[in-house]
Amino acid sequence: MYKIPLFDLNFDREEEKAVIKTLRSKWISTGPKTAEFEAKFSSLLNIKYSLALSNCTSALHLAMLLLNISKGDEVICPSLTFMATVNSIRYVNATPVFCDIKSYDDLTIDPEQIEKLITKKTKAIIVMHYAGFPCEMNKILQIAKKHKLYIVEDACHGPLSEYRGKKLGTIGDIGAFSFFSNKNISTGEGGMLVTNNIKFYERAKLLRSHGMTTLSYDRSKGHNSLYDVKELGYNFRIDDLRASIGIAQLNKLKKDLIKRAKIRESYITNLKEINSMIIPFLKNKEFVSNYIFTIILKNSDSEKRNIVRNYLASKGIQTSVHYIPVHKFGIYSAYKKYLPKTEYVGDNLITLPMYSSLTVEKIKYICDSIKEVLNKN
Ligand SMILES: *Cc1c(COP(=O)(O)O)cnc(C)c1O
Repeated sequence: MYKIPLFDLNFDREEEKAVIKTLRSKWISTGPKTAEFEAKFSSLLNIKYSLALSNCTSALHLAMLLLNISKGDEVICPSLTFMATVNSIRYVNATPVFCDIKSYDDLTIDPEQIEKLITKKTKAIIVMHYAGFPCEMNKILQIAKKHKLYIVEDACHGPLSEYRGKKLGTIGDIGAFSFFSNKNISTGEGGMLVTNNIKFYERAKLLRSHGMTTLSYDRSKGHNSLYDVKELGYNFRIDDLRASIGIAQLNKLKKDLIKRAKIRESYITNLKEINSMIIPFLKNKEFVSNYIFTIILKNSDSEKRNIVRNYLASKGIQTSVHYIPVHKFGIYSAYKKYLPKTEYVGDNLITLPMYSSLTVEKIKYICDSIKEVLNKN
């Protein structure tokens, strides 16, 4: 076990009490707690509709279905993301068109490149707000409008992150969030689809539960004893146990994010004089979620990056890499592209520990360890 893990859950008695209360209510599958979780999410994000799901991958999959994306269609997407972002395009047999990032200072999708990748087949753009820092949405919205494209926001890293007064996930046509254990909101597994479009919402609700027109919970309340199946749906439901954890997590989210912002500041103070590395997003002025904290080694390669990671591991510090570029994976070899910036970042980025209870002492220890290894190599 590491002395300092990459992530630590922000759980206390509130999550325990919430689960016990739901257990004792005897309704543990999708029901009133799920509805409460969705309502709370909508009000925090200032969006009309939120639909809680089994995970974010199902939210992204639903997004592709709602936009009627299918074989022959192209969807522009980043490669510096978790593979689920891109897998969603493949679920509907469409073609992912990988786009490079802006720069080493801004790891989000490059709007200028997006425009160059548009063809007659392009249907949508999926953006991913890396670490919770917003993509350049004003430009991306303009491009989408000009070429009549949909925008899906993979906002897994960014609950409550902002861009010019709007919450991430609420700017495009559909937003997707994850509540996997190590995300800003943790329910074990879980996800949310958000939209202002009632048609998308109604159809997503059907597709979440086998295409059935009612849920078990509705029927238990005597609303409808029969149902129709209107479309080939899925089982993408969340359960009330997880939803009740999600509600407890939402109640402390803002406080958690404020602590994370201070941790980022503390990292920056400790690392800023090292000139052999880049700290991305230093120019950001928005309120962001700080899902992860990453650094990029300058004049480096994957071998040097691994030396640094191994040294940190020997000091009891867990690190990670966000991400191995998706276009480098075996199943994406047919969609290969040369994405120089994404590839450099994939080889030279290190994700450092980030969670709201990380102490100043530990941050100093991590940063001192980085200085030690960089001075030696
Ligand atoms: C975690 C994550 C996902 C997948 O979320 P699940 O809830 O595990 O399905 C998708 N995209 C990004 C950017 C993520 O970080």
